[in-house]
Amino acid sequence: MKKIAIIAHDGRKPEMVHFLKENEEALSKVQLIATGTTGKHVRQAGYDVEAKLSGPMGGDAQIAAMAAEEQLCAVIFFRDPLGKHPHEPDVQMLLRICDLYNIPLATNPASAKFMLRGMIEEGEV
Ligand code: PGA
Repeated sequence: MKKIAIIAHDGRKPEMVHFLKENEEALSKVQLIATGTTGKHVRQAGYDVEAKLSGPMGGDAQIAAMAAEEQLCAVIFFRDPLGKHPHEPDVQMLLRICDLYNIPLATNPASAKFMLRGMIEEGEV
């Protein structure tokens, strides 16, 4: 089963749940991997997800490692563009690794919608 990583900073977690609801059918065909707290929210909303560590505790780094091992077919990362985060270096590392390995990456719901639509059209999910 293909794996998609989902991460949302605190203020954007409701948007992630909303995104999953809107794209339930397509996403039911993939395995979701999340950072810890995002995973908790998503699970509470009724979705099956494999949760890694919380972002500030290394979750983004774990997801970056999966990306580097080419285990992920896409990363959806709803970042908070207004907040400061102690794990900003890890966030930057994840974005860099996605670019390095040419992994589709969406950082807001509008781009995630088009990315997922493209993946469906290409038979990726
Ligand atoms: P969280 O981490 O899902 O554990 O909140 C996300 C992040 O801050 O990168």
